[in-house]
Amino acid sequence: MASAANTLSISLEDVYAWCDSTIVLCWLSTPASKLKTYVSNRVVDTICRIPASHWRYVPTDYNPADIASRGAMPSKLISFELWWNGPTWLLQPPSAWPANTDWRGKKDLLEAKPVDMFTATPPESFIELFSSYIKLKRIITWCLRFVCNCRSKQEDRLFSSQLSLDELQITETKLLKCSQSRSFKADKESLLTTDKVSSQSKISHLHPYLDDKGLIRVGGRLEKSDLAVGQKHPIILHRRDCLTKLICEQLHVDNLHVGPTALLAILSLQFHVIGAKLLTKSISRSCVRCRKVYARTTTQLMG
Ligand SMILES: [Zn+2]
Repeated sequence: MASAANTLSISLEDVYAWCDSTIVLCWLSTPASKLKTYVSNRVVDTICRIPASHWRYVPTDYNPADIASRGAMPSKLISFELWWNGPTWLLQPPSAWPANTDWRGKKDLLEAKPVDMFTATPPESFIELFSSYIKLKRIITWCLRFVCNCRSKQEDRLFSSQLSLDELQITETKLLKCSQSRSFKADKESLLTTDKVSSQSKISHLHPYLDDKGLIRVGGRLEKSDLAVGQKHPIILHRRDCLTKLICEQLHVDNLHVGPTALLAILSLQFHVIGAKLLTKSISRSCVRCRKVYARTTTQLMG
């Protein structure tokens, strides 16, 4: 855009951009700090080129670019005035252009960042207090429900004696994000700001990216395969983090104390653990039940 304006000797202050998506216009007029990371990064990139006040709404019926995305036969395109000349009102002064709504109030259109109850990454010493991943997840979920209830109005509070699957999944995501913040702090900051990690990073060969929940996942070219999302883009964890160890121990128990090779295969359905082989071997070796079952029997020395 800057290059075109420079070639045509037009000041960027005189350039207006048009969009027929009310959601995009709402994002552009919202402070980036209130948007989810993925949207926020792109909004900042866009308004650095053209300020938010220079973005205007064009109704779909007057949008010349619309036919380019939908496609048209040459016979129709040749006589399609909108494509060749743009909307007629564009030749008029700005007062004759379609009214520009103030999109800032359209909260229902907003890709807003959820309020995060975890204000800081819990230290490993806290996670190490728990011997079971399920117990850790349930206790944290009860704590989060308590905080959420304290912040909510009386009629919005949850009093059920059971935790819902949604609540548990939210906690799991938070725990995994905290684990990644401990293990890949620099990589996460780099992904948040530049969408890529340093070439010196230990996970650069995995082409990591941040998903819409803020989890670091393995990138790659399996997007169109029929595999589940967890297998196509597994969540990256490090074997040295205590949460990874708890998850691995839980999978070992849930799957009837499988051996290290099977445990590795089960783990890879959801996670890509750096140093996974060493971790699965150590889990099997340190499991008391497995040691009892697979212990070598001693034989009497004869003769
Ligand atoms: Zn075992």
